Amino acid sequence: MSIHDSIDEINIRARQISLVNKPEAFQLAESACQLATQSKYNLGYAQGLLNQALALAQSPTFDESMALMRHSLLLGEEHSLREHVVDCLQEIAGAYYAQCQYDLSLQYWSYCLDLSLNITNNEAYIQAHIGIGQIYFAHDDFPSALEHYQQAAEYLPRINNDKLTASLLINLGAVYLSLMQYDKALLALKDGLLQAKKINNHECISESLCLIGQVEWALGIKNSAHKNLQQALKLNKKLNNQWGIAVNLLALGRMSLEKGDDKLSLKYLTLGLSNAMQRSSVNLVLQFEQLLAELAERRGDYKLAFEHLKRFSLGLQTFNNQLSPHKLHAMKMQLEMENARLENDDLRRQRASQHREIQRVERLASYDGLTGILNRRGLEEQGCELFLRQCQSQKSLSVLMIDVDHFKRVNDRCGHPVGDKVLRQIAALLKSGCRQDDLVGRYGGEEFVVLLPNHEGVAATEVGERLRSLVDAWIWSRIHPELSITISVGIASIVDDTSLEALLSRSDQCLYQAKQQGRNRVVV
Ligand code: GH3
Ligand code: MG
Ligand code: MG
Repeated sequence: MSIHDSIDEINIRARQISLVNKPEAFQLAESACQLATQSKYNLGYAQGLLNQALALAQSPTFDESMALMRHSLLLGEEHSLREHVVDCLQEIAGAYYAQCQYDLSLQYWSYCLDLSLNITNNEAYIQAHIGIGQIYFAHDDFPSALEHYQQAAEYLPRINNDKLTASLLINLGAVYLSLMQYDKALLALKDGLLQAKKINNHECISESLCLIGQVEWALGIKNSAHKNLQQALKLNKKLNNQWGIAVNLLALGRMSLEKGDDKLSLKYLTLGLSNAMQRSSVNLVLQFEQLLAELAERRGDYKLAFEHLKRFSLGLQTFNNQLSPHKLHAMKMQLEMENARLENDDLRRQRASQHREIQRVERLASYDGLTGILNRRGLEEQGCELFLRQCQSQKSLSVLMIDVDHFKRVNDRCGHPVGDKVLRQIAALLKSGCRQDDLVGRYGGEEFVVLLPNHEGVAATEVGERLRSLVDAWIWSRIHPELSITISVGIASIVDDTSLEALLSRSDQCLYQAKQQGRNRVVV
């Protein structure tokens, strides 16, 4: 067996166990990367990175995981490993969706749609349509969701993947349910359940049972509805699927409310609400609050009803605020683009591939291969635009110049690959400590720059301090036993600077002072 084959095998194994044994999956993926570096095997290295990311894809290490995925994607693009790129796109889009970052998720799904069509990867093409449909679904645009699921369904005969088929049928069923086309919903869901049972996939089974129950309830088949929902609940409890449990309780609570069984309804809804809050699923929490308000009102407890409604409207505000106007605009544009592309398959294929090629080149030119964040060129380009915008609207802009303390020692003591990991982790921490609209980039070697629009002096210092302590507090021994890392930060905000360059140079002077004063500190 060649060395490439054994690296492939390690990667396949890491992928297989990435859900059940994350530490081992991570170790395997790491060793795949090491071997791939030694034998200069690009695909093996890129896949190893992606597998490391998948092993880290849960909440405390989400940003780290995303940084690895983006890095893996960039490598794939750089070496034209198109199947691998498609693989990365699916994982990235899925991860953003799970975090409710719909605009980013949409961007990656739509890229995936084009590329998979181009290289005739039918499974990825179907998956992308499902992904996009789910985003529309989450925004209550059911006809558009349906359109995407139907596009995906057209490609079903070309694949042989029961899991994907089940998933598509269940999504179709959910959208038909929302559109109140109950007969079609039932058909799709029962088909989906059958597929799910064939492969013994418990998550799909419980999801379809829960939806079937809701359709049956709407059709007046009440006994069976109740039975299916209870069965789904039991299964979800066994799987410890908190989200599934909450969805089930919501349906059961609504049913009991309609039946007039206030006591039972209260039990389901209170339980479900605490479940949804633990999962911090705003969307679900809102639905619970609304039903609880309805219930309280019916029982004549107007004070309680008001409390629930108040929380409902506050929650709605947070939900809407999650999408800043800038993000919302970007998302609308993306949706329009995407719709236009649906119109003509061939033309779309042609135009999209040109478009993607341009994007690919642009991305390579503006993003840093090691960390996945903006590189100096990207920072300067986007930074200058931002500088002008802020000047024109007379808004503030602050620059954080960040340098890793005694980084040379890290390389000397632990080796260059560890140094690289540290840089990647710092990039992830900086990203996680900033807002979506802030620009975060690698300015050079171990220097980073963060541009903060609309943060006045004090607030910028707070951000600087937050980033400093994020780095200080991270458990660096996870990367290497002897490691501890700090950063120094210099901050300058627009006063009467005439260029971004002037602002950068003032922040650099502050950074110099931070180093002089003993490092691991912020100087304004
Ligand atoms: P100070 O606290 O004064 O900033 O000390 P320092 O050691 O961090 O500063 P110095 O500028 O002397 O060293 C920076 C080091 O960063 C030197 C270089 O080898 C390392 N470096 C630059 N780019 C990379 C990279 O991409 N990967 C790794 N591993 N190291 C890098
Ligand atoms: Mg330096
Ligand atoms: Mg340094």
